[in-house]
Amino acid sequence: MELDTFMDEVVRKNPGETEFHQAVKEIAVNLIPFINKNPQYEEACILERMIEPDRTIIFSVCWEDDDGKPQINRGYRIQFNNAIGPYKGGLRFHPSVNLSVLKFLGFEQIFKNSLTTLPMGGGKGGSDFDPKGKSDREVMRFCQFFMTELSRHIGEDIDVPAGDIGVGEREIGYMYGQYKKLQKEFSGALTGKGLNFGGSPLRKEATGYGCVYFAAEMLKNKDQSLEGTRCLISGSGNVSIYTAEKLIEEGAHVVTLSDSSGFIHDPEGLNSEKLSFLKELKEERRGRISEYAEEFGCEYYADEKPWIVPCDIAFPCATQNEINENDARMLIGNGCQVVCEGSNMSTTFDGIKIFESAGIMHAPSKAANAGGVAVSGLEMSQNSLGLTWSREEIDERLRVIMRRIHEQCVKHGKKNGQIDYFMGANIAGFVKVADVMLAYGIV
Ligand code: NDP
Repeated sequence: MELDTFMDEVVRKNPGETEFHQAVKEIAVNLIPFINKNPQYEEACILERMIEPDRTIIFSVCWEDDDGKPQINRGYRIQFNNAIGPYKGGLRFHPSVNLSVLKFLGFEQIFKNSLTTLPMGGGKGGSDFDPKGKSDREVMRFCQFFMTELSRHIGEDIDVPAGDIGVGEREIGYMYGQYKKLQKEFSGALTGKGLNFGGSPLRKEATGYGCVYFAAEMLKNKDQSLEGTRCLISGSGNVSIYTAEKLIEEGAHVVTLSDSSGFIHDPEGLNSEKLSFLKELKEERRGRISEYAEEFGCEYYADEKPWIVPCDIAFPCATQNEINENDARMLIGNGCQVVCEGSNMSTTFDGIKIFESAGIMHAPSKAANAGGVAVSGLEMSQNSLGLTWSREEIDERLRVIMRRIHEQCVKHGKKNGQIDYFMGANIAGFVKVADVMLAYGIV
């Protein structure tokens, strides 16, 4: 198999789906040489089968706004691969959502879920609905209409959605309420639920905490630690907030945060008082990050990304392709040694190459942000057992899972005396799913 021929076929079969092409290429670049050395995968066309979703569900979501006017959005669920467990992956509500974005996310999810060592297949869904600027009642009505259709396709042993951009505890609550009403059952068909209706302790914190645990593992491998490091975080949503919280606990200095309008630079670094303000601003008031700069008298840079600030470690935690080639050069020039991806596919293909040639430790999202889906997996286990584990127990399990993901990356990622975390994560994530697909035969 040859990369260019393989990618030509991917582009031909999925026209215009640029994010999906990018996600496939990022994986194929490592997997094709591996598959060429392991012909059992080539003979069974495993990679070709993996890039084709099992099922793509697209539906209209018609709902009524506060003025009584009908609004029409498009809903999606991509059930990508359930070789190792029920389809599992978040729902994203954002105006940029389209088939390409969700296919890239669903495809990556197969590998990420495999890395967690838990029995979860890959899926993703969402809508081009924008929760920003909508009233609570509008969000509720949208979620209910979205779930009216989605409920036909999900279930605790079939497909278990969770949150993502624009979908937090509020939206999951509204969707679960509707699911329960329609299906007449109280089951673990969604994760990220509130603690009083089947949610797991630490689910909200899990992606951010897990990302920091992964960064700590990368540093430990080089006899270093997070203490005293200067860290940039982008975004100010769920992943960013809990990445910041854990970094502060570890003694690191978090000096930036952002949203889609700009970033703040706080050279003194966040502390617990500033973090409490941030949580109230973003989780309760749904305000803008510029208000942080007003409150604490630091600089706000409109329409800029944080990557121009000198740092030791960068944690992109906002959205895909937020680090491009120029950003990567800027980060390296300003002293950055480690990039740990909290957001999915944070770096463009060319950006990855720049980090690679500079020998930067770069953790791909499928490894570094797998803590969120891992604790979702633990939420599913708790729901099946009818038990709730303690916060401490889940934190310990999360630490172990992130350590094991790191070990898998090291095992499969050794290259020229360094660890290629992308190669390690891609191969380790692939092998488990591929071997199970071989066991099933051609189905
Ligand atoms: P949230 O909706 O809570 O926060 C998203 C943050 O990113 C906001 O600050 C938002 O700013 C910013 N953002 C979104 N789109 C853009 C854009 N196009 N340009 C600049 N900034 C943008 O989402 P999450 O924190 O849950 O998710 C963030 C990332 O982490 C995503 O890539 C997601 O897929 C990934 N992820 C999330 C997991 C989870 O458990 N939540 C699990 C694994 C991965 P604004 O408010 O202005 O839009």
